[in-house]
Amino acid sequence: MLKITDLHARVEAEEGEGKPILKGVSLEVPAGEVHAIMGPNGSGKSTLSYVMTGREGYEVTDGTVEFQGEDLTEMEPEERAARGFFLSFQYPVEIPGVPTLTFLKEAANAQRKARGEAEISAPEFMKAARENAAKLGISNDMLKRPVNVGFSGGEKKRMEIFQALMLEPKFLILDETDSGLDIDALKVVAEGVNALRDPNRGMLVITHYQRLLDYLTPDKVHILSDGRIVKSGGPELAHELEREGYDKYTSEAA
Ligand code: ADP
Ligand code: MG
Ligand code: MG
Repeated sequence: MLKITDLHARVEAEEGEGKPILKGVSLEVPAGEVHAIMGPNGSGKSTLSYVMTGREGYEVTDGTVEFQGEDLTEMEPEERAARGFFLSFQYPVEIPGVPTLTFLKEAANAQRKARGEAEISAPEFMKAARENAAKLGISNDMLKRPVNVGFSGGEKKRMEIFQALMLEPKFLILDETDSGLDIDALKVVAEGVNALRDPNRGMLVITHYQRLLDYLTPDKVHILSDGRIVKSGGPELAHELEREGYDKYTSEAA
């Protein structure tokens, strides 16, 4: 489903060449699987998610990102989104005055339109919203509030998963969803991710911490260090990291 081949990327600089961040990342995520990317701070995890979704400010200097056989590497973020690529934190901004549901319905319909699908009806949308909100412990009051305005860190995370559920992505990238979450909120997020597991959907969960993976068993774990995947393995790799830390991999990478 997702195939990243020898991806090299750097930060775009105003003058001269920017700093290389990704130094040859290769990765495949089949449909139906959840893969975790773990790695020390500054290893390039967020950069990888930005480059995958086409965020500006980063330049791919080599390699490709393919999705369902199509090369996305040069596509605009909107074109990728239309193909069902979703990155959490895509809408991190607060939007005063716009109720969350209104915003999400617009976003869902923009994506449907780009895919050549019919718009979702208001009752259908509300039904899905109620079901997904219930799954994530999101109150009616939260849904009525403007987008992300006045939410606590944990509430914002819940809302991100909620957005993801409402947009029905084919491929979901979650970046550091566990940072700043207490254990209960972490469980809710993990349950949300588990609820999104689907034979037709792939997921990449990017995290610095092992604890999210206690509740969400990934099919594979990849360790990113200094812009390269230095080790891949099963879920046991996350437990090894919790015990032994990243030192081994950072010194190997260096
Ligand atoms: P991680 O998410 O693993 O903590 P990042 O992808 O955020 O790592 O960052 C990887 C490296 O790239 C870091 O050294 C960071 O300082 C650098 N970097 C990322 N984005 C930029 C940028 N826009 N300008 C300069 N350096 C950047
Ligand atoms: Mg970081
Ligand atoms: Mg990061």
